[in-house]
Amino acid sequence: MPGEDDAATLHSLESRSALPFAATRYWLGLAGENYRNCRRDARGIPLDPILAQVLPSRPELESLPQETGDPLGEKLHSPAPRLVHQYRSRILLRASGECPIYCRHCFRRSLLPQERGFIDVPEQEEVRRYLVAHPEVREVLVSGGDPLTASTRKLEALFKRLRAGKEGILIRLCTRAPVTLPARIDDELVAMLARFKPMRIVIHINHPAEISPLFVERIEALLCAGLPVRSQTVLLRGINDSADTLEELFASLVRVGIDPYYLFQGDLAAGTAHFRVPLSRGLRIYEELRRRLSGIELPRYAVDAPDGGGKMYLPESVTGTKDGSWLLRSPEGSIHRYPEEKEF
Ligand code: SF4
Repeated sequence: MPGEDDAATLHSLESRSALPFAATRYWLGLAGENYRNCRRDARGIPLDPILAQVLPSRPELESLPQETGDPLGEKLHSPAPRLVHQYRSRILLRASGECPIYCRHCFRRSLLPQERGFIDVPEQEEVRRYLVAHPEVREVLVSGGDPLTASTRKLEALFKRLRAGKEGILIRLCTRAPVTLPARIDDELVAMLARFKPMRIVIHINHPAEISPLFVERIEALLCAGLPVRSQTVLLRGINDSADTLEELFASLVRVGIDPYYLFQGDLAAGTAHFRVPLSRGLRIYEELRRRLSGIELPRYAVDAPDGGGKMYLPESVTGTKDGSWLLRSPEGSIHRYPEEKEF
């Protein structure tokens, strides 16, 4: 659809979408086409896998009945603003609602605009007190948005408060910045992170085209500082929904020194149906990956139950189908539904 993606169209879609448009020059430079006049399919979705993740398109204005603004049911497990305590031994902190790029498939896309700034000091103090009151918590996921949109000094102050709440607590830093803005991983940041071990870095990466020389260099800086790096990938229609693409991605990550950790089935976030792969096809792709990849290269395939039921591993949790939905059994034995969706 040449010409559709001019600045006016972008602006019009952005103003009607829950999520603003934002992309770094670096990210746009990874694409094989210019974002202003890129090729799109019949529904207006960019064909380039880098641009499709970041340019608004019309299908995201449509919301299906099974979709919601809180697809993981985080509100059900939220004892304080920005804090989620769903699993006994770990808590999750949405430290910032800002990101270097806004991914159109983001499952927190409805939430990010409401939590724009970095977590303030009173909110950090609340988290510190929560950790004191909950000694069973061994790990804190510092997530967002992207926490690395905050300055190194602000992040350091947050980490100090978390450790004041519980000495030696494992910090899991969840970020897409090494992929979307690798220059953010400067030596000052790496040195600061290294002072807060035990620390694990979990990056979000979806396509082999996201692995650039600068990305590799900055990942090596983290690894050389003794900071282990793992990856999370979302299965995305038209972007990485083939065994060939995912095989290349996971094998390449291992060569860089990153452990592929999770491959996620798409969450039922409002306006993201055009990105989701039907679960039946996702299971077939994963079966093929199991044949092709070694145990080191193969991440776990998982889905978050839409009703706040938590993370389920695939295919292990599948117990059957009913009325067009997959039935999934949680480790606690409860049964949850995930719809089988049609291909567009
Ligand atoms: S970087 Fe992460 S939090 Fe930010 S929009 Fe992308 S997926 Fe969502």
